[in-house]
Amino acid sequence: MISILFSEREKKIIEIVKENQPISSEEIAKLLNVTRAAIRSDLSILTKSNVLEARPKVGYFYIGDIDNNVVLEKAEEIKVRQVMSLPSVVDEKMSIYEVIVKMFLEDVGTIYVLSSGYLSGVVSRKDLIQALVGGKDINKVPVGIIMTRMPNIVMTHEDESIIDAAKKIIIHQIDSLPVVEKVDENGKKNFKVIGRVSKTNVTKVFVDLAYGD
Ligand code: ADP
Repeated sequence: MISILFSEREKKIIEIVKENQPISSEEIAKLLNVTRAAIRSDLSILTKSNVLEARPKVGYFYIGDIDNNVVLEKAEEIKVRQVMSLPSVVDEKMSIYEVIVKMFLEDVGTIYVLSSGYLSGVVSRKDLIQALVGGKDINKVPVGIIMTRMPNIVMTHEDESIIDAAKKIIIHQIDSLPVVEKVDENGKKNFKVIGRVSKTNVTKVFVDLAYGD
């Protein structure tokens, strides 16, 4: 686990341990004004990720070196616009069959679905397989029927950091995020799809940084 995934409280615990080590969990909890039980899972995450070490009857020690992690510092500055790919989009009236063909031809795992040119949903490989297994008439049924629909779409924007976009991908257990631009039309909020950030984009950022590209 890497430091970008630590919560604010976990980061505070790291600071407390650095300044007061060795320190017991009770003392850490006291300094944070919470119960010992409340920080049990934070301490477990921090020890499992080798940032803290728990020595029985002594207390917690700081053993990580997350401050000097140049890769992570740089990653925090990288914005979605620098790494996004072109999106693959279809209209929600397109048949499931046509979307499957498009997914193969364009070699993507997720297609964004539009209604009147604006984001209305997302369709993934699993959604399409489910439609096939469920015996839908894929030549007739439009993709709009089987997609995951707004407002349940998790999105990003060009100026978001790649770290925050990556967190969304992990938290929501999805493969990609549409990169959108908000358009206000007669008081109604619409989203224009201008890109895609996938697990592949994010992985590439870390590999490039690790090799100093
Ligand atoms: P798959 O399961 O096909 O490998 P995903 O993990 O991306 O692909 O998709 C899992 C489910 O989440 C699918 O039902 C899909 O429609 C939905 N989904 C994919 N991307 C998003 C997103 N950005 N926002 C909301 N739902 C999404």
